[in-house]
Amino acid sequence: MDLFKKTHAIYNGWKNYIGFDDLPEQFKKKARLRGEICCSCEFLDTSWLVRVLAWFNIVKPAEKYKCGKCGCPITQKVLQDIEPCPEGKWK
Ligand code: SF4
Repeated sequence: MDLFKKTHAIYNGWKNYIGFDDLPEQFKKKARLRGEICCSCEFLDTSWLVRVLAWFNIVKPAEKYKCGKCGCPITQKVLQDIEPCPEGKWK
């Protein structure tokens, strides 16, 4: 994966996360379905560090999980259409 594509994906994920309320309902539904897949994935990373950060409210509960394969925060990962799931579980 090239750096530009990864940066573009991260940018889009955060942009859509910040502007979530204004996203089309169809895109929100797709993101929720992706999130459900991630939440039951064996690669979901709930490391002690992110759990501690969530406990101290440094990160919101929804942001406490990341993909153990690509390292992206799940909330932003599912809100972009540039980088699919690295395991091919969703596009
Ligand atoms: S993006 Fe794919 S590999 Fe990563 S946690 Fe979600 S389903 Fe699993």
